[in-house]
Amino acid sequence: MLPYGRQSIEPSDVAAVVAALDSDWLTTGPRVTEFEADLERVAGAPCVTVTNGTTALHAAYAAAGIGAGDEVVTTPMTFVATASAAAMLGATVVFADVEEDTANLDPAAAEAAVTGRTRAVAAVDYAGVPADYERLRKISDSAGAVLVADAAHAIGSVYRGRPVGSIADLTTFSFFPTKNLTTAEGGAVASIRPDLLERARTFRTVGMVKKPELLRRRDEGRWFYEVHEFGLNYRLPDVLCALGSAQLRRLAAFKARRQQLAARYDELLADVPGLRLPVTPDGVDPMRHLYPVRVLDGRRREVYDRMQAAGIGVQVNYIPVYWHPVFADLGYRRGMCPVAEAFYAEELSLPLFVDLSDTDQDRVIDTLRGILGS
Ligand SMILES: *Cc1c(COP(=O)(O)O)cnc(C)c1O
Repeated sequence: MLPYGRQSIEPSDVAAVVAALDSDWLTTGPRVTEFEADLERVAGAPCVTVTNGTTALHAAYAAAGIGAGDEVVTTPMTFVATASAAAMLGATVVFADVEEDTANLDPAAAEAAVTGRTRAVAAVDYAGVPADYERLRKISDSAGAVLVADAAHAIGSVYRGRPVGSIADLTTFSFFPTKNLTTAEGGAVASIRPDLLERARTFRTVGMVKKPELLRRRDEGRWFYEVHEFGLNYRLPDVLCALGSAQLRRLAAFKARRQQLAARYDELLADVPGLRLPVTPDGVDPMRHLYPVRVLDGRRREVYDRMQAAGIGVQVNYIPVYWHPVFADLGYRRGMCPVAEAFYAEELSLPLFVDLSDTDQDRVIDTLRGILGS
């Protein structure tokens, strides 16, 4: 079975992990600090590593002070964690519809969804294409809300000359094996605001505060620490950070190969009837995480089943988040975001990963052509 996404591991990655295993540190050691510094060079803002992309969102929303009574405006065209991490902090999630072409949060819809209680606007860089941050920034600023970017798809993407990570107040990354780089499980929060990053760092370390100037009692010994706000243990271990740094050294090659594969799909699928290909808006240089085509004429399910039967792992990204019973039970109704639902009805992600060979990609293309009759 050809997967739709998978990691790329080379001897340099293995060597980095083995070296970490042979060192004095398995958990919080020098490789965590190193990986955070390496991430900062790519993201353009300081970073805190965490255990995965879901906990990155939890830490980011917690850092923003999101809680009961607050509203978080976000897109339904994402993995459930973008919304559920805010809901778990007691916030009310307000879904705003997406743009018809990119499936990213539509700034006009986000603006219409803002109320006096909006505390965060959370965009997703769907498939690796950065959201319309310039317009979203105006909306979040005038609402007095933080701008959050769920960039689980988009580490390495560039928006109007600026790296994803340096644009929103808080940006989250995932290093799951199917994403743009991997640490097995892993994630990070980037922030252009030192106060928010510090709060995320404290949250991922069970809320422990050690800096002497921050302590309420300063006359205890050097063992002393205090907890001022509740947190969780979301620390990413040294062993995995070693893998992360090794992977980051290959990021430019990852991006080039993903772009090359996307360009091959663009070219070789251009004339297939009943198929709509993804677009790249002006001013963005995406790290292509997904290659989401749209299967027209109500044939998505058939094409999904026949591709799977041919041994080709295709995927659907995503089920509109508010369709999940946990949201439906709270009163969210189908039909709320019709553009997202129409996108979902046609969407199919084709295999896209660094080690996908041209030959395997040709098989994907030929199989899809065979099904759609061209
Ligand atoms: C993968 C993903 C997440 C969650 O990341 P994990 O590392 O799997 O927890 C969140 N948001 C989006 C858009 C994702 O694709």
